[in-house]
Amino acid sequence: MNKLYESTRDKEVSKNASEAILQGLSEEGGLFVLRDLHTLHVDIESLIECDYMGIASKVLGLFLNDFTSEEVEQCVQDAYKNKFSEEEITPLVSLKDAHVLELFHGPTSAFKDVALSILPQFTKASLAKNEMGEDILILTATSGDTGKAALEGYKDVDRIKIIVFYPNGGVSKVQETQMISQEGMNTGVCAIDGNFDDAQNGVKQIFLDEEFREMLLEKNIKLSSDNSINIGRLIPQMDYYFYAYKSLVKKGAIKCGEKINFVVPTGNFGNILAGYYAKQIGLPVNKLVCGANDNNVLFDFLSTGTYNKNREFLKTISPSMDILISSNLERLLYYVSGCDNDYVKDLMKELNTSGKYDVTPEIFEKLKESFATGFATDLETKETIAKIYKEENYLMDPHTAVAYKVLLDNKDENHHSVVLSTASPYKFTNAVYEALHEATQEDELRLMELLHEETKVRIPDNLKGLEKKIVLHKDNIKKIDMRTYINEKAGELRSCTE
Ligand SMILES: *Cc1c(COP(=O)(O)O)cnc(C)c1O
Repeated sequence: MNKLYESTRDKEVSKNASEAILQGLSEEGGLFVLRDLHTLHVDIESLIECDYMGIASKVLGLFLNDFTSEEVEQCVQDAYKNKFSEEEITPLVSLKDAHVLELFHGPTSAFKDVALSILPQFTKASLAKNEMGEDILILTATSGDTGKAALEGYKDVDRIKIIVFYPNGGVSKVQETQMISQEGMNTGVCAIDGNFDDAQNGVKQIFLDEEFREMLLEKNIKLSSDNSINIGRLIPQMDYYFYAYKSLVKKGAIKCGEKINFVVPTGNFGNILAGYYAKQIGLPVNKLVCGANDNNVLFDFLSTGTYNKNREFLKTISPSMDILISSNLERLLYYVSGCDNDYVKDLMKELNTSGKYDVTPEIFEKLKESFATGFATDLETKETIAKIYKEENYLMDPHTAVAYKVLLDNKDENHHSVVLSTASPYKFTNAVYEALHEATQEDELRLMELLHEETKVRIPDNLKGLEKKIVLHKDNIKKIDMRTYINEKAGELRSCTE
């Protein structure tokens, strides 16, 4: 069988889907990609009568080259059946200026759930397929949303253990409470003194530490990663683009084949890149609109062709988009350069040494064919939350509001637009409450109640009664102690077969 995946930085690397999923990152630091993306094809008409899981099975089947269709189907069922609070998984709500695709009805109320519900199933199937003897230890650094979604996804999954590191004081109260009350014999959670970059760098260094990996291997443990560079996290994000399209056709809003826009609140460029993949394999997309917050490095890049991370890192009310190095952009550069591995490698080297790079004018033109962009300040974000609530009685979270503001600034009368909604408003209660009222010192969990009384919008079950949850994880360490911590914790955690 033809191995489908290579590295963005090395054409000679060759992997099956299951191998790429288990490995996460290629040896030389590149990301796994398929050169033949444009040859895959989804027949849109054939999806119109499918439900979410039906669409997911069809789309994922194209990318999981060494999975049988029964295996794909099983992964989809285990990931989504009765796991989301909405029957539709990702329902589409139509407002005056756009349709909103709600991606936050999973177990932790953020869009990361869609991919992190199924990645553990892929990992489990891949372990069996490759007859790997070792158990997997997933290491995750999180700025808040990925951590909880990953913990829920991997909780009690056979032969897999997971440790999540988060920056002490760097996540919201809701996010921290969600994580430190995590159940499951195979889950570990630990605060790190430092910010998110420290946590992420710490994890990356451990991945590259061969001696440490060898030591874990002797204990029958292999390290893996579940962050958004894993191809197994990217591909399930295509499914909801197709689902949104089918929903619009079913509603009679568009004819099958008509092009539409997607507006995406963007951080690590994973969500919007999945839209680009969907377009390459046949989804009728006019523009993918990249919405940024005040950390507008992507806005600048898509407006000028220069990527420059040398700027102040700002803390905003849309923290999951506070990021200056958008890892998944590397995959886009690979495709728009005509799959030129050496070119990508050079750009990434430049980014590493000088913190910036320029793309060629030809590549910049190509980017503009598929992408548009805009950004919203914190003030504009709050104004948008208040405006849409007042005018249309629809409550959105700050990340969604960033995208909605960008949509309103770039109205396109000729195409329908879908705004991707990435979190429940209750996940960022403080900011949402302040958008409707003024600044407050009230406890965030109490504000949730107040916001509910006022708006009558349902609080997701997983966010209810958080204040009563028992704290199960109290660890707090220095960054230099991560290796010792992992070593000890790996021995303590139990995978379900033990
Ligand atoms: C992660 C996240 C984003 C950004 O998504 P990327 O795939 O990193 O671009 C946006 N909104 C929320 C709520 C998130 O958790």
